[in-house]
Amino acid sequence: MENVSKIIKRITESGLILTSDGFEYIKTIDPKRLNEIMDSVIQEAQRKNVYYIDGSFLDKFFERREPIQKIEEKREIRYERIKPEIIYSLHPEPLGEVEGFLRYFKSRYNKISKLFRRRGDLNRVVKTGEISKLPMKTRFKIIGMVRDLIVRRRRLYLDLEDDEGSITIITTEDDVFRKGLMLLKDQVVCVDVIKLREDLFIAKDFIWPDIATKVNNRANRKVFAVFISDLHVGNTHFLEGLFNDFIKWLNGRLGSEFHKEVASRVRYLVIAGDLVDGIGVYPNQINELEIRDLYEQYEAAARLLSKIPRHIEIIIIPGNHDAVAKALPQPPIPEEYAKKLYMDERIHILSNPSYISLEGVEVLICHGKALDDVLSSKPGLDFQHPAKGMELLLRCRHLAPIYGATTPIAPEREDRLVIERVPDILHMGHVHIHQIRRYRGVTLIASGSWQSQTSYQRRLDIKPTPGIATIVDLSSLQTYTMDFKALSG
Ligand code: FE
Ligand code: ZN
Repeated sequence: MENVSKIIKRITESGLILTSDGFEYIKTIDPKRLNEIMDSVIQEAQRKNVYYIDGSFLDKFFERREPIQKIEEKREIRYERIKPEIIYSLHPEPLGEVEGFLRYFKSRYNKISKLFRRRGDLNRVVKTGEISKLPMKTRFKIIGMVRDLIVRRRRLYLDLEDDEGSITIITTEDDVFRKGLMLLKDQVVCVDVIKLREDLFIAKDFIWPDIATKVNNRANRKVFAVFISDLHVGNTHFLEGLFNDFIKWLNGRLGSEFHKEVASRVRYLVIAGDLVDGIGVYPNQINELEIRDLYEQYEAAARLLSKIPRHIEIIIIPGNHDAVAKALPQPPIPEEYAKKLYMDERIHILSNPSYISLEGVEVLICHGKALDDVLSSKPGLDFQHPAKGMELLLRCRHLAPIYGATTPIAPEREDRLVIERVPDILHMGHVHIHQIRRYRGVTLIASGSWQSQTSYQRRLDIKPTPGIATIVDLSSLQTYTMDFKALSG
């Protein structure tokens, strides 16, 4: 402060007046830098016949040259804090009792066939009940749920069901066959069919519900969101050092000037599940646990997150390792387990999936357990490229189409896993492999983990890519990848 008053004295002695916002500005500048530059400030003022020294006049001298931390302090003054808008976060709903999952499937069928009909480019869509009346050689389209999918001698036998009945459709042409191989059991699809005989229907094409090219929303200030997933706190393979480097970077204490500049603009952190490793998630997990108490795992996670700068809003959804029921949709991690997280007002504990808006940019967050079922069974897909699987889910307009595989789904009255609203960003984790991809204007972010290869992954030959964060400029949707393994050296 002594330095500041000396500088004010110098300004006044030169016959200049320091305005009050000029005074506020000076307080945010490193006194040493201020001393160095004051002569040229005074000279410039006298040359231009300026008598009042205010913030914007001073800004021209310090803008590009001041240390990063000072830029940050200034921004704190300039930028108001904007909370994420929660468009939906789900809580369990009563199950469709007597009807069981039939009710649930009906909801899925209704929702996705509505999406098809909204497209407007599909003509001659009929229901199974009308087919018997159609003359031979009629070409028509039918929307239904894939109940069964059998491959036999380069032919596909598809059992399709709608709300009136079912139909078996066969492929004869090779390219239609290959396209059909990408179909997922229980997904809703539209099939272009020709009726050859009373009981013989040939597929001419498969049409996915898909999305129209997304016209993106953008934030109207240059702020960034960071996307990560799968910390697995409590597991012996959790890479705490690497995660601490990530926190160091967010605090402006790691990386190049450019990295620090990026960090200073981060206002949101999105974590797509598996915050902790949990207890009893897989056989013999206990041998790989460093923290063997679920409460303590969340305590440790809260301790880590508490070191993240206060101006960053943190959004957390659960994964299959977290302390909630495994069936989708998974409710938010309960307060009982995560007291410390709930006490922090900038931490938002949401469901899996959930849908938020960050200053207008819409983000659909889902842990992505269903990627296991999709990536393992479809030609051209593999675990090293999870975002390709995300693209397929988006085209199916469903976050977990396959029922009864390894992803449990709660048979609720309404299927809330249908992707009705198309986001700007779709964020998933779970596979532990990082990949970014764009599909029709949607940024697909598959987050890697903060955990090194486990014995389970070694058996499956899955090579995780830990320590990578994705940064999105919310004003342009430009993405940056930061690899902390490289940065930490
Ligand atoms: Fe995980
Ligand atoms: Zn997971």
